[in-house]
This record gives sequence, structure tokens and C-alpha cells, in this order.
Amino acid sequence: MKEFSPAINRKTKEYYTFATQLVDTIKQYDHIGVFAHKTPDPDALGSEYGMYFWLKDNFPDKDIKVFGEDHQFYTPALYPVLDKENDAWFDQPFLALVLDLGNLARCSEPRVKKAAFTVKIDHHPNVEPYGQLMLVDEMSVAVSEMLALLFLSLSDEYVFTKRSATMLFSGIVGDSGRFKYATTSATTFAVAEQILELGVDMNNDIYAHLYSGDLEDLYTKRFILDQFKVTANGFAYYVLDAEAQMKINITPERGKENVNIFSGIKGIQAWAAITEDVEEKRWRVSIRSAGKPIHELAAKWRGGGHPQASGASLLDRSEIDVFVNEMDQYLKD
Ligand code: AMP
Repeated sequence: MKEFSPAINRKTKEYYTFATQLVDTIKQYDHIGVFAHKTPDPDALGSEYGMYFWLKDNFPDKDIKVFGEDHQFYTPALYPVLDKENDAWFDQPFLALVLDLGNLARCSEPRVKKAAFTVKIDHHPNVEPYGQLMLVDEMSVAVSEMLALLFLSLSDEYVFTKRSATMLFSGIVGDSGRFKYATTSATTFAVAEQILELGVDMNNDIYAHLYSGDLEDLYTKRFILDQFKVTANGFAYYVLDAEAQMKINITPERGKENVNIFSGIKGIQAWAAITEDVEEKRWRVSIRSAGKPIHELAAKWRGGGHPQASGASLLDRSEIDVFVNEMDQYLKD
């Protein structure tokens, strides 16, 4: 195995047995599907396409498909358009590589369940172990980071190219909040160094897509800053109902975009974006925390996620107050 900096070597050693098992499994299947979670974020899509390009670079003759939901803004500028296959594809023996997905019910492609062999690679708390082969690392800031480490650990024999690395970098910056969140580690920076060494142009290839905005974004921020609320024990939130979304011209998927507007504000311990989704008949909740873990509370509200970043669903407007009170009480204790 190639040697890298100590922060990488520690992890590549930890992952190596899994990496070799993964390669052995890949060799056994002609058809491979790559999967991730619903309403994908850059870590989901970055991991999917990071894996896809690595597979294409190293196993060019295999039939590899990437499934799920395209991103509202970043597809096709950053991520290629996903594959759409009919049932016949899923009726043949295929290997499922399932990325950034804690529980299979949240997979954006239900036919994942037809796989002959399933591999789980994830960094959410392992509440639902699934598949025949699994690598779960809760300490990792992003699944894209885990994949980069796997590909580095295999780089004696298998190429890790710029196109795969570009996708993985997008996932790392996405899930680490540009190297800011708590699980960002020495390994994260060491992996970023390796990726940039491959020729990835951070600004033009990635940041230009992920972090550009327009005047409308500014109006949205103004709207949110005008109406957010903070509870006695430091829970801040904003609510975007259907009417508000119409007014500021955004879709439900975009409601959570400004959730971190509350990050770093003294006295705010946890915060959320609550967005009505008329089509799905629910209110999407994106919860973030500066410290106290919120994933178990999110699970009670039909969701889950990480200790400091979780998602949940409310069924109607009346649940907002109940949820907010519960968050507030939780922060008090
Ligand atoms: P979001 O607020 O949608 O950005 O989600 C924050 C984190 O929580 C992401 O890692 C999601 O994958 C995870 N998450 C969101 N909703 C759920 C859910 N219903 N079940 C499990 N994890 C979730």
C-alpha cells in the first residue's frame, strides 16, 4: 500500500481490508448500480459520481449506472444527469453500492432492494446495518472523504483520477461546510491535499457551482432575517410556508439553504429551517446543532441524521409549535 501523510495512513490501514473486499466484489459483477439518499446533497451526488468515475477508470468494460434524483441546481453543471433504467435492468444480477444512506427506506431508488449483493458505505450512525459488506465510519465528515481514502489505499493498483477526485471534493466541502464542521479532521485536510495534487481546480471546478448566488438569494436572506424566531433556551428557526415560498420565488428543496444563517451566533444552541412541501404533504425540517446531539430527537420526528445535522418531517402546521417546544425543552435540560 502506498504511504501518504500520517493522517491518511491511519485511515487507509483501517479501511484496507474492506477496500480489498470491495474490489473482489466489484470484479464478480458485470452490472453495478450506485445509489444514495433522497433529496441528494453534494456528499450524496459527489460520492455517487466519485465512485462512478473511479469504476469507469478502472473497470471500463463493466455496465455501471448511477441512480437517484438529480440536483435542482448542480445538475448538470456539476453532476452529470443520473441514469433512468427500466425494470429489466434491475431484474439481472447486479451489485448495489449504496453511499451516504443510513437506512434503506431513504434510498432514492426503491429497486435497490433487488440487488444480488449490497455494499453499504456510510458515515451516519449505524442504526440500520444492511447489505453483505459494510464500511461505516461515523468519525468521517463525508462519505466522499471515505471514498477518497479507499481509492488512495488502492492506488498502487487502481488509478484515482481528477474526474473522480473532483466529485469527491464537492462532497467533502459540502458535508464539512467548507472545512468548518466538527468532524472536519486532519484527515480531511490531508485528503484535500491529495485531491488538489491531482489537478482539481477548487474554484472553477467546484466552488463556482456550489457557492455562487444571485440577487434573489439576497432577498431570501432578507425575508428570513425579518421573520426568524429564537426560543428562551436558544433554538432559532425560520418557517417558509407555501405562501412565503411563492413570495420569494423558491422551491421546497431550497428552503433549508439558509439554515446556517444562525451558526456561530452566541446564545443559539440549535437551529432549524422548516419548509412546507405541499406536494409531499409535509413540512421539511433541517436541524443543526452547535453541540448537543439532535439526531435522536430528529428520529422521533420521522427523521434522523448526524448528531449535529439532521432532517425530520412534520405532518401539518400545528406540529410546528409542538416540535419547537420540544427542541426548546431539550436544550434547557
Ligand atoms: P438535511 O437537513 O436534509 O440537510 O439533512 C441533514 C442530515 O440528516 C443529512 O446527512 C441527511 O442525510 C440526514 N437526514 C435527513 N433526513 C433524514 C431522515 N428522514 N432519516 C435519516 N437521516 C436523515
